[in-house]
Amino acid sequence: MKLVLASGNPGKLKEFGALLATSGFEVVPQGQLGIDDAEETGLSFVENALLKARHAARASGLPALADDSGLCVAHLDGAPGLYSARYAGMHGDNAANNARLLRELDGVPDERRGAFFICVLALLRHADDPAPLIAEGRWHGRVLHAPRGAQGFGYDPLFLPNDESSSAAELPPGLKNRISHRGRALADLRQQLAELHA
Ligand code: IMP
Repeated sequence: MKLVLASGNPGKLKEFGALLATSGFEVVPQGQLGIDDAEETGLSFVENALLKARHAARASGLPALADDSGLCVAHLDGAPGLYSARYAGMHGDNAANNARLLRELDGVPDERRGAFFICVLALLRHADDPAPLIAEGRWHGRVLHAPRGAQGFGYDPLFLPNDESSSAAELPPGLKNRISHRGRALADLRQQLAELHA
């Protein structure tokens, strides 16, 4: 059975493909079917994940999986949040996004730099599925005062996970994938799929 992934990101395709292979799904990126990106008009990660999955399911007539993720900083009322990818204005400009985050937290002491990454996954069996599978993972830590490390992407160089002495960009990628918000959300989805098929 084919399943559409509402993302064009090759890294995600690989991760989700491996996860879903055991569930009997063949994962196809939406771009391969000529499906464009959905408008992300939701006000939360779960709403946007659902919008993206529903858009892909509707356009393809197939089951669809979507994810939405970002960084939430308590001192900034949850920002950059939904706007994590374009915090500084331009989509995907990691250096500018990180520079803005450091500016917003200038002079804020460690104890008020708490933050978490969040990843929400939505799996719809069809566009009108009234009971989608929703999986979530959170990764708690705090925002550093300067970037550290060269691995990963996005805000990784500025994120110090709780109980770690390395920033997310200093962790070996395999370890990051296991303990991160995305790893946790995938584990949650894996468990829900196993229960579905039990
Ligand atoms: P998307 O859901 O993959 O589009 O991610 C949204 C944005 O959140 C990314 O562009 C990054 O800025 C940020 N983000 C999400 N996950 C991570 C992560 O694991 N490390 C660093 N930044 C992340």
